[in-house]
Amino acid sequence: MNAASPRHIVIVGAGVAGLTAAALLAHRGYRVSLFEKQSVPGGRAASMTEEGFTFDLGPTLLFMPDVYRETFALWGGDFDREVPMQRLRPNYRLNYADGKTLEISPLLSETMRSLERFAPGSSRGFLRYLADAADAYQRSRRLFVGERIRSFRHFLSKERIAALFATGAFRRLGAQSERSFGDPRVAGAFSFQSMYLGMSPFDAPLLYRLLLFTELGEGIFFPQGGIGALPRALDRAARGNGAQIRYATEIAAVERNGASVVAVRTAEGERVACDAVLLNADLPYAYDRLLGEPKHRSLRMRHTPSALLVYAALEERYDDLLHHEFLMPADLRATCDDIFRRGRIPEDPAIYLCAPGATDPTMAPTGKEALYLLVPAPSLLGVVDWAGERDAIVDRALRIVEERRLPGLRSRIRWVRSRTPLEFQDELSLNFGSAFGLSHDILQIGPMRPDNRHATLKNCYFVGASTRPATGLPLVTLGAVQSVERICEELG
Ligand SMILES: Cc1cc2nc3c(=O)[nH]c(=O)nc-3n(C[C@H](O)[C@H](O)[C@H](O)COP(=O)(O)OP(=O)(O)OC[C@H]3O[C@@H](n4cnc5c(N)ncnc54)[C@H](O)[C@@H]3O)c2cc1C
Repeated sequence: MNAASPRHIVIVGAGVAGLTAAALLAHRGYRVSLFEKQSVPGGRAASMTEEGFTFDLGPTLLFMPDVYRETFALWGGDFDREVPMQRLRPNYRLNYADGKTLEISPLLSETMRSLERFAPGSSRGFLRYLADAADAYQRSRRLFVGERIRSFRHFLSKERIAALFATGAFRRLGAQSERSFGDPRVAGAFSFQSMYLGMSPFDAPLLYRLLLFTELGEGIFFPQGGIGALPRALDRAARGNGAQIRYATEIAAVERNGASVVAVRTAEGERVACDAVLLNADLPYAYDRLLGEPKHRSLRMRHTPSALLVYAALEERYDDLLHHEFLMPADLRATCDDIFRRGRIPEDPAIYLCAPGATDPTMAPTGKEALYLLVPAPSLLGVVDWAGERDAIVDRALRIVEERRLPGLRSRIRWVRSRTPLEFQDELSLNFGSAFGLSHDILQIGPMRPDNRHATLKNCYFVGASTRPATGLPLVTLGAVQSVERICEELG
């Protein structure tokens, strides 16, 4: 590379993946210009503060901190200093309809005690489950998500094929948990988490144990000030390394000349020439809207469902509420079938509650709470009339939480905001409002997931949830490192 005129790379999107790539590419000496249509960093992982209440708008759980430590170190950054955080203990509490509770902790003895109270004898199944998950984690972290998949042939190395069988990658998470635990409620407790990344546990490949093991083996972390601290730190790092970032600037199209990308155009019509483009806007949307390829195979691939998010500013906090709690449905399979097969909001939804004030009092004014509710729900491909029924759907979710867990909830509310698949589609450019992007069923992972480079436009790259390796903050971070590695190899 010529040091006097470095190659110019345009990045579209300031999600965690786009920002990570910007920091790395700028550190490697490229001229980087990043354009983001929102006015703040983070994309799905952005946060908002209003009247002293801070809400993480999407992700609320930080897993696999080593991924960020290793990534920040690539540009000489110190993740623990930039994003101070604490490990939660317990991780979360599950609330069942009969009033029983189960607490999952990163401390083995605590989870075992809680399991014995909940279903005597189940802690034995837990130890076996954990040992298997630990083994699967060690293998899959490097082989399936830690290394860039170059081609089908490269993926199908002897070592990977052996690992695929050893880790039971072709089995289903839900079925395996039922085999390990017998009791369907305990099995559900160790598989339902996949719903919060857009997969039914009954369909999710066992590979999802990777994320489960990180929760159990390493724990769940919370950055001071919320998850939004991560994209803010990435924004600082990218700028510090020399990247130019323009928020509130939408890219309308990628301009090509033959087999190359030559420029991008903003929605206002400005043309920005570049030597390569890295698209962090979700991949199917990017093919459809930015590259003008509505027939690309990613648009026909299975998309994850979505979620209803409710952000409620409470006048008074609940002292007995843990940072993370879940209201478990009586019949997890029926709940999943409603969302994943019938495209409707379940009668008995699985509701996730996040009360960050339990860990970090700066998230709300003294004595108050920034309460977050997540209800897994169908995308716009389902049968829900989100525009017409939004208020009723939000109110029903609040009522269920009030009846099952937080008495008097609605009378404590100062104001409420919500996000539905409509906002996921319109504000975050996610096709069908599919909150987690392309699904991770067995035919859409590994080499079958869309590649991080365009097949014919040799200087058009992708990064983020719907390309390789997968969705989730740590995995899109690993993906950013892999896309940058490829750009450096191919552009020189
Ligand atoms: C409700 C919810 C809860 C989640 N919980 C967790 C969790 O607890 N832990 C976890 O690890 N993961 C979680 N995830 C997953 C995680 O949020 C995502 O995998 C990750 O944030 C995706 O990052 P990304 O960089 O790929 O994409 P995005 O965050 O979607 O970033 C893409 C960016 O591109 C921008 N963009 C799109 N089109 C254009 C355009 N034309 N011009 C300019 N900019 C454009 C968008 O505005 C957006 O900012 C959750 C996701 C959701 C939705």
